[in-house]
Amino acid sequence: MTTPILAIHGGAGTITRSDMSADKEAAYQQALNDILAAGQRILVDGGSALDAVTEAVRLLEECTLFNAGKGAVLTSAGTYELDASIMDGTTLAAGAVTCVKRLRNPILAARAVMEHSEHVLFTSEGAEAFAQAHGLEFVEPDYYYTEARYAQWQRARQKDGMAMFLDHDAASLMAKPAEPIDPDSKFGTVGAVACDAQGRLAAATSTGGVTNKKVGRVGDTPIVGAGCFANNVAAVSCTGTGEMFIRAVAAYDVAAQMQYAGKSLADAADDVVMRKLVAIEGRGGMIAVDAQGNVALPFNTEGMYRGFARGAEAPVVSIYR
Ligand code: ASP
Repeated sequence: MTTPILAIHGGAGTITRSDMSADKEAAYQQALNDILAAGQRILVDGGSALDAVTEAVRLLEECTLFNAGKGAVLTSAGTYELDASIMDGTTLAAGAVTCVKRLRNPILAARAVMEHSEHVLFTSEGAEAFAQAHGLEFVEPDYYYTEARYAQWQRARQKDGMAMFLDHDAASLMAKPAEPIDPDSKFGTVGAVACDAQGRLAAATSTGGVTNKKVGRVGDTPIVGAGCFANNVAAVSCTGTGEMFIRAVAAYDVAAQMQYAGKSLADAADDVVMRKLVAIEGRGGMIAVDAQGNVALPFNTEGMYRGFARGAEAPVVSIYR
């Protein structure tokens, strides 16, 4: 039996410590802690890594502090387009959805695709039709709306109508950022990775994408191997400039370096985040666990909302370096 472990992230980006409000920081820490505790309960009760990451990401989607589900960022057209993916390391089964606009929990749709479809990736209307056929909950687009993201989008458009911004970086667009990580310069994707008591691995990732992204733009989050990957060696979930994570095949590269080069989880994850991504100006981070219960949470930005819970021990939550 392995001691189970769960890790989660809520995006990476530029820290605005000087302007941060202590209340806001406490709110992020509390949310990360509560979500870790909920996922940890599943693992401690003998549940699967797959169920733990699904529930952790569903809860992150429900929390408006994070850029996924409710609280997602806006596209250049002022709309919402959400992406999510999930992977079972034991079977290499995977499911993903992109550009969904009316699903309350994109991660549940990704899981339905994984479990009930011969396909891996569905987009837009097709993804929604599939989700509807499997009884998933629909919402009106304004369900995702939060005042903070709307203001962030307005700032992004004023600053540079063409540019797109990582959610946490976009915080820097705020007149006075009151969040620990500048929302205008933050990558806001959420994710979870777990190893359960039987040594099974799973990963899940969900996002609203980058603020002011072009309609139809898809980042790394729903791309198996880029923003999300799990096999029997490692489970990885990423956040950051999606285009670079796709080009680096970031999540898969961690497992590959372990498998083919015999690297440790920490060394492999570090190589991808601190060297390979940096070389192509990729910004962000990742969370990763291996089948031995090791955890790595590297990021090349100033901060990343992150945490892990091992066995029944109290969750460990961090924002800064
Ligand atoms: N990686 C995500 C994307 O490119 C953004 C993020 O992590 O916030 O869509």
